[in-house]
Amino acid sequence: MADLQAFREDTRRWLEANAPAEMRTPPRTADDVCWGGRKGKYPAPTLRWLAVMAERGWTAPTWPREYGGGGLSGAEAKVLREEMAKLRLRPPLIGFGLEMIGPLLLEVGNEEQKREHIPRIVRGEIRWCQGYSEPGAGSDLAGLQTRAVRDGDHYVLDGQKVWTSYADKADWMFLLVRTDTTVKHGGITFMLMDMDVPGVSVRPIKLISGASPFCETFIEGVRVPAKNVVGQVNGGWAIAKMLLRFERNMIADVFKEREDRSRLITLARRYVGGENGRLEDPIVRDRITQIEIDQLCMDLTLARSRESVKIGRPPGPETSIFKLYGTELNQRRRELVVQIAGPQALGWDGPGFSAEELTLTRDWLRSRGNTIEGGTSEIQLNIIAKNVLGLPD
Ligand SMILES: Cc1cc2nc3c(=O)[nH]c(=O)nc-3n(C[C@H](O)[C@H](O)[C@H](O)COP(=O)(O)OP(=O)(O)OC[C@H]3O[C@@H](n4cnc5c(N)ncnc54)[C@H](O)[C@@H]3O)c2cc1C
Repeated sequence: MADLQAFREDTRRWLEANAPAEMRTPPRTADDVCWGGRKGKYPAPTLRWLAVMAERGWTAPTWPREYGGGGLSGAEAKVLREEMAKLRLRPPLIGFGLEMIGPLLLEVGNEEQKREHIPRIVRGEIRWCQGYSEPGAGSDLAGLQTRAVRDGDHYVLDGQKVWTSYADKADWMFLLVRTDTTVKHGGITFMLMDMDVPGVSVRPIKLISGASPFCETFIEGVRVPAKNVVGQVNGGWAIAKMLLRFERNMIADVFKEREDRSRLITLARRYVGGENGRLEDPIVRDRITQIEIDQLCMDLTLARSRESVKIGRPPGPETSIFKLYGTELNQRRRELVVQIAGPQALGWDGPGFSAEELTLTRDWLRSRGNTIEGGTSEIQLNIIAKNVLGLPD
């Protein structure tokens, strides 16, 4: 306990001395936080913050030191999170490397793969994207058709991925390919592919929200070293599902990095507050309170799940409950914000709206995708019914 108190004091001193002032405000959009990668262009304070945190391994506080992680215990990592929250510090790095492929490789990657990829993820050098979905394989993911055929010490890949988030900004992709056409689930292999090679091309897809967060990815005759297979050839389905659990936890927690938690109340005071910002309308008060209570319960449940991961219990099918609940809660929150702000949340462009107001509409539209990405709500309900509740098929 005394050790933890000393760690807290050291951590606070170090953060105060090293965190750039610009990093002490909550991010307004996903781009206010560093996603790393070779193609990313970030302001100097963001890069400085990444560099000092990565040097200590604190971009991935609990990952082993031998791979560049912070080597902190669960309790120390919690102290670090708390001290960062007190200073309202932004995370130094986010992305699929830290949240998905890194934890997966630590679990099932071989030593060479861990040594090659984990330190680069910790330092934010490589940005990753996820090549699962295909034009004919979304909910029915095992129907994927991208072929990988062995040729010496390489595989040659041909096919197409779709809805690949940030493929245009990513350096590497983790993907599922078909290595056996005679069986469905048993013919899938999980691979790592450098995207900066001949045969990979990416076309962004524009959304109703105005953003273009995902792409079509075309893969034509791409040579991938056989050493980039994770796990066994034709054993990729089990690995794919393991990764989806990390992904679902991440999506369930969509709200965590992006916003100041008091924002809903601040906005309500601004748009529908009476004198001194008091919220007179009992219905508004009730709806805000319910969302905040539900969010708190969700946060505590996720924190419990994170702790059990840290003591060596990988996330199980219950992550589908988090994904379902977390994303629907986020939609309820966005919906309420739009209702509270009224006409001011209907802006798209031009005069009459502040920059913040323009994000309200876009965030509301973006939240619709939360219940689709990482497996739709209907698919989560199927998984919960079968694998959590044990109901028959
Ligand atoms: C914002 C966003 C980001 C994404 N990022 C990525 C990414 O980075 N990489 C990637 O690989 N993919 C990504 N995806 C794709 C996502 O995983 C798929 O969209 C999702 O799995 C659904 O597949 P689909 O779009 O083909 O819909 P479909 O599978 O065609 O489903 C259509 C509808 O039918 C329902 N349905 C289908 N099957 C069943 C069933 N068995 N029981 C009940 N209902 C069913 C679905 O719930 C849905 O409502 C992203 C999607 C979104 C929205």
